[in-house]
Formats: sequence, structure tokens, C-alpha cells
Amino acid sequence: MNETRTPTVIVIGAGIAGLTAAWHLTQAGVRVKVLEKNVTVGGRIYTDICNDFEIDVGAQFIADYYTHTLDLIHKLGLQSELVSIPGKAAISRDGQLHRVWPDLHLLFTSLVSWRSKVMLLKVFLQMLYHQRELDFHAFHKAHTLDICSTAEYAQSELNEDLLEYCLQPPLTGVFYWTPEHTSQAMLFISLKMGLSLTDMKIYTFRQGMRQLPEAMAAQLPVHLNVTVSSVATESSSYTIQAQVEGQEHQFIADGVVCTTPATIVPTLFPNLDARQREFFQSVHYSANTAIAIGVGRRLPSDFYGLLFPRCEVNYLAAATVQSARNPAQVPPGRDLIFLGSASQELLAQDDTTIRNRLLADLRKSAPIYDPGSDEQFCCVYRWHQALPEFNVGHFKRLKAFADGEIESGRIVFAGDYLNSPFIEGAVTSGMEAAQRLLKRLEGL
Ligand SMILES: Cc1cc2nc3c(=O)[nH]c(=O)nc-3n(C[C@H](O)[C@H](O)[C@H](O)COP(=O)(O)OP(=O)(O)OC[C@H]3O[C@@H](n4cnc5c(N)ncnc54)[C@H](O)[C@@H]3O)c2cc1C
Repeated sequence: MNETRTPTVIVIGAGIAGLTAAWHLTQAGVRVKVLEKNVTVGGRIYTDICNDFEIDVGAQFIADYYTHTLDLIHKLGLQSELVSIPGKAAISRDGQLHRVWPDLHLLFTSLVSWRSKVMLLKVFLQMLYHQRELDFHAFHKAHTLDICSTAEYAQSELNEDLLEYCLQPPLTGVFYWTPEHTSQAMLFISLKMGLSLTDMKIYTFRQGMRQLPEAMAAQLPVHLNVTVSSVATESSSYTIQAQVEGQEHQFIADGVVCTTPATIVPTLFPNLDARQREFFQSVHYSANTAIAIGVGRRLPSDFYGLLFPRCEVNYLAAATVQSARNPAQVPPGRDLIFLGSASQELLAQDDTTIRNRLLADLRKSAPIYDPGSDEQFCCVYRWHQALPEFNVGHFKRLKAFADGEIESGRIVFAGDYLNSPFIEGAVTSGMEAAQRLLKRLEGL
């Protein structure tokens, strides 16, 4: 890098990928500006305050294999703010809850038949065979397994019982995906995670997940309420057009890190070639509608997470109980249950309809969690783009990206869709984008 001139980089988006990229660039001596269209930082890490409860409406936890995220947390001095979530998870079947996590508890429940459990061994053997391709920090290595969907794999190698009661509930409850739109490669990676991390610990922050992006943003020049509308390439720089509090504004930079969801990229970069445009347009996102219901008593806290098979409910995919997650966040004698759905149809409904439909499913499948007359309030949340789908073809796209076939010039991209659909994936992609850009800035 030229010693007499400090390069300037614009980071578009103050989600965790953008903040991580900005953090690494700043550490390397680059002058950075982060432009964020919202009035808060964090993007899909968002903690709402509803009736005195801190509610993590987006990301709810981090896990102990999030090595890059934990490293950031240590550097920020935030480790004492981490709270371990002791909770267990269960899948509901015929009104009964079957503990499936942590440990290999699934093997000892009656969730699926013994015949199905034996069949699962086959998947584990195949997974072991492909272990080298299944890397939590480099999903693109699994591209050779990206040949059919999880549903197609289950139909040819397993049975309906396993598809509907073991595979679909976590896919929909955790990622808001369906087995039909999830690559078999993702199934193998998830199983490897599940198997190697049977004693995995998960954490949240004492005052909600927003603590992480807020601590990072406090050390970075973040400009809120700035919506980028386009990026134009000049001979040796980039012109970034943005709306700043309703006024048109231009920023000039030597490099750009774009961390918006993939769907927005083609509108921001009109000069993408056909291959690049197709790459970003091929990424699809799942939807999430959720309600947080305040309850005037403590709910059973044996399980933190409950998952519901689609063949037994209409809309409900997952429920989490706040007192099982972080009792410190819950006032005595009260509780909060958070119900989520992946239904596109529900997303379009009004608040009352959403509440009624999700509660009807809960009453049917896990009645002991029904707030009944103790319901105190209900907050409704909608994510039109919750998580990028890792569908058939996505791992091949990741391979093309890793091979450098998509980016050009000093414009780099980051976000969970380019690594893995978790905070750790967004953090890793932000780190890697900063490293790539630093190399390209060396020529300035
Ligand atoms: C309901 C839900 C639950 C989840 N649960 C978990 C969990 O428990 N654990 C976990 O690890 N992960 C979880 N995730 C996933 C995790 O939240 C995401 O993977 C991660 O936060 C994505 O970060 P990102 O920076 O890639 O994208 P984002 O957070 O989406 O950031 C992109 C940013 O770009 C901004 N932006 C967009 N367009 C413009 C523009 N034109 N100009 C300026 N700024 C713009 C957006 O406002 C946003 O702030 C969950 C996600 C959701 C939605």
C-alpha cells in the first residue's frame, strides 16, 4: 500500500458482516465509512424491547464453534457478557415432546421407529465418508455433494418417517427452510455439526444479541439512515450514490465492501456482467413471521427450543421459552414464549390472524405451553428475508465465488449467503472480504 496515501473504503451495510469487514480494514490502517440504511446497526441481529422484555427477534444465539465470532467478542472485551443457554431441544409428535438435543438423545426416544434409527446410521456413514468436504468455515468444499435436495435424498435413501420427523423440523424450525429447497450438501454439513458437537454449548448476551454489533459500531465510523442507491466505477475510484436523511449525497472511495442481501446487489451495481448478475439473482431467502407472547406466570422450562413437524401443524415451526434461555432477562413470576413460522402466506396476514394461527398450532401440539388467560401482550415480527436458502446449486455458486469468478476490481462482497447461514458465516465472510480488498488496495 502506498505509504503517503491512506485508502478510503465504503462499507455498505452495518450488519455483522459489514461491521466485521470494517473492523478488519480499520485495524489495517484503511480509512473506512460504514453506510447503513436503518436507524440501528446489526441488521438481522436485532433485539427489540417489548413490554420490559428484551426480545431477540433475529439471531438468538451463538455456538462455541463460532471461533471467528468468539475471537471478536474477546477482542471487544465482551466475554463476560456472554450467558450460556442451558436449554435442551425437543421435537413434538402426536402431542408428545421428544428430547433430541443435546447428546444423542434422539436414539433413546420414541420419536421415530427403531428401523428408522438404524437407517440413520447409513446417513452417518455417508457423512463420515465425505467428512473432508464438510468444513464449517468453507461450505464451498461440499460442492460435489450439491446434486439433489434433502427431500430427494431422504426419499431415495431413507424413509418418510425420518424426513418428516427428524429432518424437516430442524430445517424449518432453525433456518425457515424446507427439505425440498435445501441441498443434500447442507444436510450432511448439519449432521456433521450435530454429531461432532453433541456437547455443544450455545450462548446469548446478557442484554440481548444487539450487544455485539453495538460494541463493534461504537469503535467504527458508522453512518445510520444512509441508503446506498448505486455504485459507479470511475477510472481509479468508485462513486457511491446515497440518500442521506432524504438528501442525495455522493461518496468517493478507493474500494467498496457490499454486505447487503444478495437480492439488492444487482440494483446497486448496474454494470454487473450477465454472470455476476445471475449469481446474485439466484440467491433466495426464506421468510419468518414470529410472535412474542408475554405470560403472567413461569412456563415449563425443561426445553429451550421446541420444533414442530409440518405434517402435524399448519404454520408453527418453532417455539422458544425465554426463562429456559436466559432467566436473568425474565422478571420473577413472568415469562415469554416466542413462536416462529416459515410460512410465506402467514407473512402477509394481519397481526391478529398471525397470533391466532400460531397459538392454535401450539395448543394442539404442545398445550402445556399455551399461555391461556395468562397472556399479557403479543408483539408480532416479520422478516421478509430471514435466511439465504442453501438450495441445490448454492454450493456450486459458493465454489465459483471462492474461485474468484464473481468479484472484480476493488469491489468485494460479504454476507451470510457467501459463507454459511449463521452469524459465524457472516463474520467469516466479512473477515475474508477485508483480506481480499486489502490485497487489491496494495496496487494503489
Ligand atoms: C429470525 C432469524 C433468526 C436467526 N437466528 C440465528 C441464530 O440463532 N444464530 C445465528 O448464528 N444466526 C441466526 N440468524 C442468522 C444471522 O442473523 C445472519 O446470518 C446474520 O446476522 C447476517 O448478517 P449479514 O451482515 O450478512 O446481513 P444483515 O444482517 O442482513 O446485514 C445487511 C445490512 O445491510 C443493510 N442494507 C441493505 N441495503 C442497504 C442499502 N441500500 N444501503 C445501506 N445499507 C443497506 C441492512 O439494513 C442490514 O443492516 C437468524 C436470522 C434470522 C432472520
